[in-house]
Amino acid sequence: MALLGCIADDFTGASDLASMLVGSGMRAVQLIGVPAPDAPAPDADAVVVALKSRTAPAAEAVADSLAALHWLRGIGCRQFFFKYCSTFDSTDAGNIGPVADALIAALDCGFALACPAFPANGRRVFQGHLFVGDQLLHESGMQNHPLTPMRDANLVRVLSRQSEGSVGLVPWQTVAQGAVAIRRAMTALKEQGRRHAIIDAIADADLHAIGAAAATQALITGGSGVAMGLAENFRAQGVLAAQPDAGALPQVAGAAAVLAGSCSRATLAQIARAREQIPVLELDPLVLPDAEALAAQAAAWTAGRLGATPVLIAASATPERVAALQAKLGAAAAGALVERAMAIIARHLYAQGVRRLVVAGGETSGAVVAALGVRRLRIGAEIAPGVPWTLASGDGEPLLLALKSGNFGGIDFFADAFAALPGAA
Ligand code: ADP
Repeated sequence: MALLGCIADDFTGASDLASMLVGSGMRAVQLIGVPAPDAPAPDADAVVVALKSRTAPAAEAVADSLAALHWLRGIGCRQFFFKYCSTFDSTDAGNIGPVADALIAALDCGFALACPAFPANGRRVFQGHLFVGDQLLHESGMQNHPLTPMRDANLVRVLSRQSEGSVGLVPWQTVAQGAVAIRRAMTALKEQGRRHAIIDAIADADLHAIGAAAATQALITGGSGVAMGLAENFRAQGVLAAQPDAGALPQVAGAAAVLAGSCSRATLAQIARAREQIPVLELDPLVLPDAEALAAQAAAWTAGRLGATPVLIAASATPERVAALQAKLGAAAAGALVERAMAIIARHLYAQGVRRLVVAGGETSGAVVAALGVRRLRIGAEIAPGVPWTLASGDGEPLLLALKSGNFGGIDFFADAFAALPGAA
């Protein structure tokens, strides 16, 4: 039975958290969207429901999060985690505050800690202020984010503006004294009537101490970093066995392919490297601005090429060519055209027997997952930080799927991915 029930406010954030939990020894499954009421409980220690609630209207984010919580309670989870971005992506209208308030009310727990810190990725919280690398949040570039501009690094203030409850702080001086001191500070804040507490953390040791202090908290909110200490609580309670192979996935026979829709610098470099190693088709939506025609070109090219050696199909282009297509069609229509082409190509590859698929690009991954009718992902071992192999299941036969946010992974990511598969030599 699942122990930890998680609600993530976006898709790649959900995978990031699930990957962290697998790394700490919990078997994890990610579900796409609020599960149907009669959806079977996954065989996992942690279940992560991936929502698209980060920038949805607050009322919708709250409703989806409560529906996810209700389902997770129904399958027996005993502790809950609300995962948001380590840069606290939100606006004064929400959605971190309203969702956390609603979860606290539904769980009748009165209080939840809030800790977005993820030192390994340069996110640290000190005296309630969030730093990205050596810069305060509002000077880190996040002040210019198109949807969730972060113009205040003081998270006590930020969360106060979003919550109907009041927000306290557990400062680093307390965190450094360890789990008992943190637990006492949280109890004192709750008794003072605080509904939330921002908790400082500048190193992994702080996150482990916070995790230990949170053993009896019904709800934890934060980035994936603060989840690193939770598995240990369940082991200490005797309800989670030691599992060195929590990320083990079955072997799946079938052809291998890569679909790239990310135009990020990292992905462009990874494609350039792959060109030296495997067959690569570069689609040009500027020359052929038609999703069906692009997909037909890909289908003709892959005929006779699919097998154990992966093929790579990329729409990815340099900033100049992306700008040219956007000027021609408009930015939204340009993105939608390429995503539609990738969705059709993914369905075709699957129909042709591809069962090992790597997708580069967050939005591109969303389009592919929807096109393939994927509803759950069993999380495997990490290929690169934040990018695990997963066993995807849904409408059809299962397949191995790796979904890479554009900028993730080293230059050899595609080769690394296939070399990391179960059964790879
Ligand atoms: P990332 O994770 O790097 O942000 P995404 O897949 O989320 O990658 O976003 C990349 C966007 O760029 C997608 O909407 C994709 O359809 C679009 N795109 C891909 N290739 C091109 C291209 N050649 N011209 C214009 N847009 C493109």
